Amino acid sequence: MNADDPTRPRYLRRHLLGIEGLSPQEITILLDRSETYVLQNRQANKKKSVLSGRTIINLFFEDSTRTRTSFELAGKRLGGDVINMSVATSSVKKGETLIDTAMTLNAMHPDVLVVRHPQSGAVSLLSDKVNCAVINGGDGSHEHPTQALLDALTIRRRLGHLDGLVIAICGDILHSRVARSNIHLLNTMGARVRLIAPNTLLPAQVERLGVEVFQNMSEGLKDVDIVMMLRLQRERMQGNFFPSIREYFNFFGLDEAKLSNAKENALIMHPGPMNRGVEIDSDLADDFGRSVISEQVEMGVAVRMACLEILTENLDSEEFRNL
Ligand code: ASP
Repeated sequence: MNADDPTRPRYLRRHLLGIEGLSPQEITILLDRSETYVLQNRQANKKKSVLSGRTIINLFFEDSTRTRTSFELAGKRLGGDVINMSVATSSVKKGETLIDTAMTLNAMHPDVLVVRHPQSGAVSLLSDKVNCAVINGGDGSHEHPTQALLDALTIRRRLGHLDGLVIAICGDILHSRVARSNIHLLNTMGARVRLIAPNTLLPAQVERLGVEVFQNMSEGLKDVDIVMMLRLQRERMQGNFFPSIREYFNFFGLDEAKLSNAKENALIMHPGPMNRGVEIDSDLADDFGRSVISEQVEMGVAVRMACLEILTENLDSEEFRNL
């Protein structure tokens, strides 16, 4: 469909703060646009100029390797100027508040702010105070929308669709923004989500999210299409959530024996960074017949290009000028 066609479906929002509340159509628009960039990123010339003249600031209050690099590459491949601000060098260390930092950056007229913050809700708060588009690059244990989109793109490209699939998300659900964004996206797109975790790593009343809950890997993995493993986020844990790493791996780590319960061609996913031998057996992580972990990283760049392009298109449109 022609990009200038006024009847084409659009993502009519200023920001991308989370997956919760997005319609299946909005998610599909983001995924379809991402698809075009997968091909472009595999060519020798990966550059386009759709963000020429635009400024993107990556504002990361929390460490990140892949998400920050991925947004940086995405912005540069579209011809934008990308600036990385990490908390270690920022004035936040000198006591500036989140909002003051946002206002300072806002005064420099960025077009997009990509923000990661350790507190759930902080990115949404910040988005109210600025004139540009804001993309949530992960807020506390709340949401990480571009991760869920890249996971969905990976699945859709491999299996052709999302509806009707059975997907197990396993491990540290409690601390995982990846799990939350994926639950919203997969439910919205008609997949069935199972969560597999020890009781201590499940949020209270998790069933309300429309998922099935298991505390046993063999039962939970029975006949699933996708096994999505999560990192044990020890940096977010205060106190003991499981007796030992060895015991955790024995009961909840993905190995051949547990995986044999899933469908024969089930795909293995992990958002990274991985703890090999903690939540996933190292050989399985590298089993390129079944593990799509590198593909997830590849899809990440395409998804972020699509999000940057769509949000900057919106900045130009009449509907958004008065918001
Ligand atoms: N990279 C993902 C995130 O930022 C997952 C993780 O850190 O385990 O949430």
